[in-house]
Amino acid sequence: MSIPLADPEPLAAGTLRVTPIGGLGEIGRNMTTFEFDGKILIVDCGVLFPEEHQPGVDLILPDFEPIRDRLDDVVGIVLTHGHEDHIGAVPYLLRLKKDIPVIGSGLTLALVEAKLKEHRIKAFTMTVTEGQKEKVGPFDLEFVAVNHSIPDALAVAIRTPAGLVLATGDFKMDQLPLDGRLTDLRAFSRLGEEGVDLFLVDSTNADVPGFTPLERAIGPVLDQVIAKAPRRVIVASFASHVHRVQQVLDAAAAHGRRVALLGRSMVRNMTIAEELGYLTVPDGLLIDYKKARDLPDDRIVYMSTGSQGEPMAVLSRMANLDHAIEPGRATPSSWPPASSPATRTPSTG
Ligand SMILES: [Zn+2]
Repeated sequence: MSIPLADPEPLAAGTLRVTPIGGLGEIGRNMTTFEFDGKILIVDCGVLFPEEHQPGVDLILPDFEPIRDRLDDVVGIVLTHGHEDHIGAVPYLLRLKKDIPVIGSGLTLALVEAKLKEHRIKAFTMTVTEGQKEKVGPFDLEFVAVNHSIPDALAVAIRTPAGLVLATGDFKMDQLPLDGRLTDLRAFSRLGEEGVDLFLVDSTNADVPGFTPLERAIGPVLDQVIAKAPRRVIVASFASHVHRVQQVLDAAAAHGRRVALLGRSMVRNMTIAEELGYLTVPDGLLIDYKKARDLPDDRIVYMSTGSQGEPMAVLSRMANLDHAIEPGRATPSSWPPASSPATRTPSTG
């Protein structure tokens, strides 16, 4: 139940109004609007995935109601990165008005365009990269590289006469990322010296002490597990975690195994990532999962969606015998296999 609030005061001249539409106090459906001089800029437009107590719900969208009558004033949607909780609701917003410009990095836009194609929407897009500055309506935007569990993520600095806002999206502080693209702390500090009036920063896991393990540290673990596994290996990750998938591909190739991608979003995203040069696939490594079933068990790695236990993802469906690939049926004497250590790699959102 929501408590009815009075309509906000008209915006005084020269002031900026920031309205979180989603993503505060919840992990998902990130969306924030910035209003200045009668114009609105949106940062991110994601979905929230339902939980077990919400049966029959496919997706939870941000509540577009506050801007539904103002769509003609929206000058653009900036997308910080390609995770579903940041881009998943774009098609539903563009259904209300198709010509709102969508602004983001190359990979982010490719992922959102694939999604829009399914909704038969051809978006107006503007590809931006770190260091780039663009004026969108009354908003002067500057994009800053951040490292995350998906390549090509950006923070955005938003300048108006009302002040400077820095919105980071989610990011990691991996100092040795696989692609060498670090969170640009020098740019953060330069903006800090200029004077940031409002810092909107990712808080996921911010209350967990310590550091996220380096993505690079996971490769050797994957390599060991795949080297020692006597039978099939099934790896689950986010369908957009290009660097994790890369490490699985490399480890599989090193041990003479082929890789079958499982899950529609995994196949779609990795096809895009390879086309754009974010993922390097050794020749002949990938195999369709239907053909993979003909391979000996110790010659295959399945790369699957569902690392967060999402009920409709392939990993859960395999476990529930609801997918063409079924889990191995170990006999009591062969389980647990003595030579496969239980190893968990950290996941990041
Ligand atoms: Zn993210």
